[in-house]
Amino acid sequence: MEQSEDAKRRLQEGNSVFSKSADPNMLARLAEKQEPFVAILACSDSRVDPVKVFNLSLGSAFVVRTAGNCASDPSVLGSLEYATSHLGVKAIVVMGHTDCGAIKASCECCDVDNLKSVMTDMESAKSALKGLEAKDPDQVALSNVRVQISRLLYCSPVIGDAVRTEKLVVYGAMFDIRTGVVRFI
Ligand SMILES: [Zn+2]
Repeated sequence: MEQSEDAKRRLQEGNSVFSKSADPNMLARLAEKQEPFVAILACSDSRVDPVKVFNLSLGSAFVVRTAGNCASDPSVLGSLEYATSHLGVKAIVVMGHTDCGAIKASCECCDVDNLKSVMTDMESAKSALKGLEAKDPDQVALSNVRVQISRLLYCSPVIGDAVRTEKLVVYGAMFDIRTGVVRFI
């Protein structure tokens, strides 16, 4: 209980610093509407914050984060469809990363019931690889980015049509935690 109180206090203190230092004109502008130029599907991993990694500011990116940057849950696809059709983003980035815990969990035993669809995706990512590559978590993470891009293109008519009519581009990317570099694939 004490630790959760500490967590809450850290967040309150952080927000106090943010709200006092944020540019009031920027906040007023953002309060009118959001106009992100990109949507990003990234992992929930605490080391993989797309807004920081791409040096973006509030309002620049519509971000969806799930374990293993998986779009298996309908709410993930729906969120990216909303960004495409209502916010008019011109690009979606699906970003995997090195040292991904979701990938590692799929190589071990993961007993989180609601992560089963994520684990199924990881198996698809592995099955696209051969031999030793299928045992390399970073190769599986890369393969998983491709699995998720296919899902966006073929399971979402909104995203698929926007790409076919050249209103939208879907990029894959890998973030290397050790170097901080994102490589577009
Ligand atoms: Zn991850």
